[in-house]
Amino acid sequence: MWKEIDAAPADAILGLTEAFKSDSNPKKVNLGVGVFKDDQGTTPILKCIKAAEKKLVETESTKGYLPISGSPAYAANVQKLLFGADSEVIASGRAATIHSPGGTGALRVGADLLKKFRPDATLWVSTPTWANHKGIFTAAGFGIGDYPYYDPQTKGVDFEGMLAALENVPAGDIVLMHVCCHNPTGVDLVGGQWDQVVEVAKAKGWMPFLDFAYQGFGDGVEEDRAAVEKFAAAGIDFFVASSFSKNLGLYNERTGALTVVSPTAAESAVAMSHIKTTIRVNYSNPPAHGGLAASMVLDDSALYDQWIGEVAEMRDRIRNMRALLVDGLVARGVGQDFSFIKEQRGMFSFSGLSNEVVAWLKENKAIYIVGGGRINVAGLTTANIGYVCDAIAEALK
Ligand code: PMP
Repeated sequence: MWKEIDAAPADAILGLTEAFKSDSNPKKVNLGVGVFKDDQGTTPILKCIKAAEKKLVETESTKGYLPISGSPAYAANVQKLLFGADSEVIASGRAATIHSPGGTGALRVGADLLKKFRPDATLWVSTPTWANHKGIFTAAGFGIGDYPYYDPQTKGVDFEGMLAALENVPAGDIVLMHVCCHNPTGVDLVGGQWDQVVEVAKAKGWMPFLDFAYQGFGDGVEEDRAAVEKFAAAGIDFFVASSFSKNLGLYNERTGALTVVSPTAAESAVAMSHIKTTIRVNYSNPPAHGGLAASMVLDDSALYDQWIGEVAEMRDRIRNMRALLVDGLVARGVGQDFSFIKEQRGMFSFSGLSNEVVAWLKENKAIYIVGGGRINVAGLTTANIGYVCDAIAEALK
């Protein structure tokens, strides 16, 4: 079957990790793939998760299937995190939440669901966006459009351009937006700008699809959901894809959620029925372990407080590395202004390094950065920051 068929290209980011692994340079640094690393360069299991897993192993009595939508307790916990425990959305029952295999699974289930009822819609994504957004919605059969987002001149959001484009999105189309810690740029909208976007969504009748993969990595778990609360308050239909991969470190447990918010509880029940039929023919029902562990942390006030502390630790570590990088470059006499890196949020930084510099750093210094210059700031450690600053300073000479 495969004799006449060319191999598919390797995933750009995961392919970079493969190249990194086979590099024999002892000084090599991986600033490519988007996973959190601690200052020892490892991706830790959070202490709150370790504690929950211990309890889980002791108390778990069956490996029987979960419901198609996952455990109801998990869905309730996800809704509390997304909207706040006292939210009107929860009280009125107008959100339908399912446990998906990661944020990726949530995006795909959402895309498949939308394809059934909005078959001719276009999916609009920010320029740039996480590469898999286009891949997922293309695979589900959607055409893709782009709206302006990153302005290389100001190193911020081109909000005027973005809003003007969103004014022209036809009713019924879908607009994907990153709630916080935009991947790959690290630049986000601020409060008043979200109000304007919500107004445009309401007036024009397009469907907001919010990707919320980094709750807690911006300003804090509660602070980061401000935009979600604004969409909820508008009383319109919208989707949220959320993930515990980063904020609970549950990467390989595939622990995410799709939440479909509707204007009324009756509509929400209809939405849930169709989400379930979409899942049934895809993976039938979700894996249990990650969701049960996450729920245990979110249900237990001591574990919850421990988690909030651990998220703050991760967030502060990344912020600290941003500062060390910027200051390290200044200290080495680099003339180019990199101070914007301190202002960016989340794990990523659009560094402004050219593709030539990125290639040079890989060839000569075994420093691996994604093409386009996106740096995973969490790949920097107090042990490698000096080496990375020296290398960038040399490359820019
Ligand atoms: N959305 C964005 C913007 C992401 O960066 C990621 C992870 N790289 C995801 C969704 C999916 O995360 P998960 O690993 O939970 O599928």
